[in-house]
Amino acid sequence: MSDIIKTEGIVLSKLNYGDTSLIISVYTESYGKMSVIIKGARNPKGKLGMIADPLNYVQMVIYKKDSRDLQLLSSVDIIAHYPRIKEDLDRTQYALAILELVKRLTVENETNKKLFKGLVKILSLIDLAMEHPGILFGRFYLFFLSELGYAMQITKCGICEAEIGKGTGGYTFETGFVCVNCFESHPQLNFISAELLSYFFCLINNRPVKNFSVDLIKQANIFLNRYTKNHIPDFTGIQSLNYYNNFK
Ligand SMILES: [Zn+2]
Repeated sequence: MSDIIKTEGIVLSKLNYGDTSLIISVYTESYGKMSVIIKGARNPKGKLGMIADPLNYVQMVIYKKDSRDLQLLSSVDIIAHYPRIKEDLDRTQYALAILELVKRLTVENETNKKLFKGLVKILSLIDLAMEHPGILFGRFYLFFLSELGYAMQITKCGICEAEIGKGTGGYTFETGFVCVNCFESHPQLNFISAELLSYFFCLINNRPVKNFSVDLIKQANIFLNRYTKNHIPDFTGIQSLNYYNNFK
């Protein structure tokens, strides 16, 4: 017996299956990440295939069986499709990188309504172009890491526990961020610029980011990628952002 359930979700990815079907991975409000098969979706007369495109925010009715990894779609309707993300390459790239993070680092059937809400919110902010999409990506990334239990700590020095403040500092994966005094007395630490520290500070504390260069945004996102790899060894990095590939 399967249950008939209704839930909202963001489509993370889509894959052809057999001659006419599709399998989508979707992050749902009520059940977390799920794989759903849409039978006959690639029928040229139907619109189902387009509704199930990655990035779309949909409402679905599903036949759900707990014993099954793949659930069966009954019907799907679109709630939002973020046209302004799709018309801009930068916005698309960062939005797809967000989907990739969620797809690769969440577990199937693990409900997290806060994460779902955050995902819907960040996609609408990127769509509205409220900030550079790379900054919005960084904001989501930090929120996401804290939801996964790997919140980045930047206010207290990892060695002496003093407030880190606004100056430069240091970092290693063992110590985390450290204050400028500890940085000077521990030569093995990596230098962190005042700019990068204050950028992370704005992101973590939900403050507006002003006068930051695209270079700094990239530097910060590369840092987050390395931070994630360090905490989650299986994580191989994000494919959707091509600049990551040059910094491995
Ligand atoms: Zn210190």
